[in-house]
Amino acid sequence: MSGFGGNYSGSSNNNNYNSGGGRGSGRGGGGSSGRYSNSSSNYRGGRGRSSGRYNNNSHSRGSGGGGRGGHVNYGPAKFKPCKDYTTKGSCNNSNCSYAHVVQLHGTVNATNSSNNNTTAAAVTSVSIWENSGVIKIFTGSDDGFWRLWNTAGGNFVKEFESPMNGPVSVVQVVNNFLFCGFEAVSRALPDTSVGMVHVWNLQNPSQPPLELHMAPLLPYAHNQAVTALTITTDAGPPKVVSGSRDGSIRVWTFRDNAFVLESDIPGHAREITGLVLLPANNLLWSCAIDGAIRIWDVSQPAKATCQYAITAAPSPPTNPPAPGGAAPSAGHGHTAAVTSLVNFSSPAGAFILSSSLDGTIKAWNGTTGECVASETNGEGVVTMVVAQDAQGNQVLLIGTESGSILCRNLVQTPKAPAFSLLFIMTSFFSAGHQGAVKAITAGPAATFYTGGADGKLLVLQLTGDLQLQ
Ligand SMILES: [Zn+2]
Repeated sequence: MSGFGGNYSGSSNNNNYNSGGGRGSGRGGGGSSGRYSNSSSNYRGGRGRSSGRYNNNSHSRGSGGGGRGGHVNYGPAKFKPCKDYTTKGSCNNSNCSYAHVVQLHGTVNATNSSNNNTTAAAVTSVSIWENSGVIKIFTGSDDGFWRLWNTAGGNFVKEFESPMNGPVSVVQVVNNFLFCGFEAVSRALPDTSVGMVHVWNLQNPSQPPLELHMAPLLPYAHNQAVTALTITTDAGPPKVVSGSRDGSIRVWTFRDNAFVLESDIPGHAREITGLVLLPANNLLWSCAIDGAIRIWDVSQPAKATCQYAITAAPSPPTNPPAPGGAAPSAGHGHTAAVTSLVNFSSPAGAFILSSSLDGTIKAWNGTTGECVASETNGEGVVTMVVAQDAQGNQVLLIGTESGSILCRNLVQTPKAPAFSLLFIMTSFFSAGHQGAVKAITAGPAATFYTGGADGKLLVLQLTGDLQLQ
């Protein structure tokens, strides 16, 4: 557990998290993190850069080939993690030629059924609650619970679990509020599962959660499961954007102690998998398993319009323009389900990254939607997060369909091109999931956390010098 102590002072409170109905009051104030700060470089090249350019790196170790434990060719990586160091925290081989750069601090069975991998309920979402120097972790699961894990002392003890009576797709902590998106039977429609969002004030968790309701007679957020959430407190009152399995997107504003429906966006043809709101530009980016990315103008909340649709094939503008839906597309989008979107800023500008089951991660100019980079990853990408390594360099952590975790450099440095593959972890060779990585999130001190289809929560940390500077 070396290197994991520092910030992790222990505390064990026994709060009651009331998961019952009714309304509480809550409010998220303040700004969000400014973690996209210390980069020094740029994305090179123009559109649609493809993979395979990073083969001649003098720091390369090992065979360079991927596919250990699977039959996937991830391409050449700069480092090959040492299994002993990664999984046990130390390596006794003084001649070890593998890299001591990442450690697995814990593997937690985070669902009720995770003893049997063939029937484990997936860990669908992971979020970190950092409060007064204490780190706790929330997980959501297909087994119908969110759970709270205490990390004190390097042990991962379940502190609380809340039954939601249906699969939980999203947990997200923002400013001491827990947002949970799930699917369950509502009081208003006792025979039908609907999509709901509940919000707990973690400073007063015994209060009933705040609920997002479309209307008094429609006490739920979407007709089907809530599959994506993004919350912003950047400009004005807190806003929640929710996306559903039915393809709908809704924007909610906090007003008079409730989240009020502000915008009903037609969204996509299929399940929403990712949302990024850029309040300064009045733009909302969305992605879905229909393979499309859409950019919405939300400056007039009552009539959000699709500015641009990024799809695999070009489509001309329609005349007259179809409301909400058929925006023009120049093509060059993803060719399979889009699985996540993340916001990433560097001195070169603001970018949106998208991941897809087509195996690529693409970088887009955040305001124009122009594709500035595309990298292949050997297999479908399910989730990703921007994180910092132990030296404070920005890296991209990637979770794949087979359960592998990839780490890529994010901004070009004199020693490493943007997007170059730094290392690959698999359950066979070092650490990974048996089944798709469903969620990945970054914490303080270069820690990161992954949730998998195998029902496991992995607690990891970048510990070594990735030789980016
Ligand atoms: Zn070693």
